[in-house]
Amino acid sequence: MRRHRNVKIVATLGPASDDYDTIRALFEAGADVFRLNMSHGDHDDIRARHNIIRDIERDTGRPICILADLQGPKLRCGVFENDEAEIEVGAPFRFDLDDTPGDATRVQLPHKEIFDALKPGGHLLVNDGKLRLKVEKCGADFADCTVITGGTISNRKGVNVPDVVLPLAALSEKDRKDLEFVCELGVDWLALSFVQRRADVDEARELARGRAAVLSKIEKPAAVEAFDEILAASDGIMVARGDLGVECPVQSVPPIQKRLTRKCRAAAKPVIVATQMLESMIDSPMPTRAEVSDVATAIYEGVDAIMLSAESAAGSFPLEAVGTMNDVAISVESDQTYREIIEASRASHLTTTADGIVAAAREIAETTNVKAICCFSHSGSTGLKVSRERPRVPIIVLTPVAETARRMVLSWGIHSVQTQSVERFKFAVVSAVRAAKAAGFAETTDQVVVTAGIPFNVAGSTNILRVAPCDERLIFGTEGD
Ligand code: PGA
Ligand code: MN
Repeated sequence: MRRHRNVKIVATLGPASDDYDTIRALFEAGADVFRLNMSHGDHDDIRARHNIIRDIERDTGRPICILADLQGPKLRCGVFENDEAEIEVGAPFRFDLDDTPGDATRVQLPHKEIFDALKPGGHLLVNDGKLRLKVEKCGADFADCTVITGGTISNRKGVNVPDVVLPLAALSEKDRKDLEFVCELGVDWLALSFVQRRADVDEARELARGRAAVLSKIEKPAAVEAFDEILAASDGIMVARGDLGVECPVQSVPPIQKRLTRKCRAAAKPVIVATQMLESMIDSPMPTRAEVSDVATAIYEGVDAIMLSAESAAGSFPLEAVGTMNDVAISVESDQTYREIIEASRASHLTTTADGIVAAAREIAETTNVKAICCFSHSGSTGLKVSRERPRVPIIVLTPVAETARRMVLSWGIHSVQTQSVERFKFAVVSAVRAAKAAGFAETTDQVVVTAGIPFNVAGSTNILRVAPCDERLIFGTEGD
């Protein structure tokens, strides 16, 4: 079973997609990675979905990647006397620490850290940025604001504070419990919400203890500013456009998306573009032209993965949404302009032997008719380097490590296969050729490129390349070692 595209599809699971048949249908329609959102559902729900995915993996014989998304320090206001209040443009409004139910003049904001960090002139945004308030005066337990954009404010609405780096712990008590729970369950990626600085990533990595790769969601201006350091500390990135578009001017999101995508590719780390990609498909079986264009744009930019949130978790047309992404990807990737863009944005990264081998593999694929680049990779680092090259032919990563096979699924173009560990290069070639043929990438009369690091039982990176025939008799007939 193989995909006919390189960009990957991440589908969030939720009430619209929580049984075996639906999740299997999503997988078959094109979902490569499933996202478990820890902001919704209790541990029993999460465990049930996790078990279903692993059952599908067993039944289809294909590695499936699971990403658990931690809620992070999401800020919320308190409650109102009448559950809600109207606040009008130009009116004064106070946030404080008093838990008395609020009204049209004040409400509790039960986060002391915010008052410590706020400055007059700063802004507080409520309910996904729909309401906007400017801070006039503030102290240790209050902030007197003027309403800039008014409307209805109701119980426990989310609050964003874009202008300051909050001295909030990156991981709440709930996040720590969730992290331990999902790491024990066995997820492949941990996504961290509202990362503000490198130390946030380091802290989560320490707690994960290698059980999952760490992906930083970029959704705060502070994270955009500290991006280089955050990228260096992370295994992957999500351009989390939902909160990012609230915390930053919405028109700054497309340039940020482009810049971050390029930096991630240069670093050979996967990047996901998320949120509102096919928003109208929550209620409609057909996307808007603008949504199709947004999905296509991300693919032309060379992102590793595109994501569905409510479309697959809570919408009425989860399968159609995955199918739309799959169709758009096939259309874009067969466009000559796509190849031109991808090739024009490729930079040279020749610093190690593995870089040289990987670049050579890509060049061979450009100059001869090989059907796939097959690479043996223990940790996955060579697989990521091949993916960064964005070659014209499929990439098959062969690894004896199940966790590596699953993590690699998130990256552009990678078809991962778990194999037995091999001791001799010729057996590696045989298993690469068999994998390429079994998945339908090559036939007996074809050739593939195979890379590996030998000796196999010594940790070290890729140092050998062979253009191998897919006819097994010829492999043994010409093999020297
Ligand atoms: P969320 O993150 O869906 O967890 O809020 C994605 C985003 O903000 O875009
Ligand atoms: Mn978010």
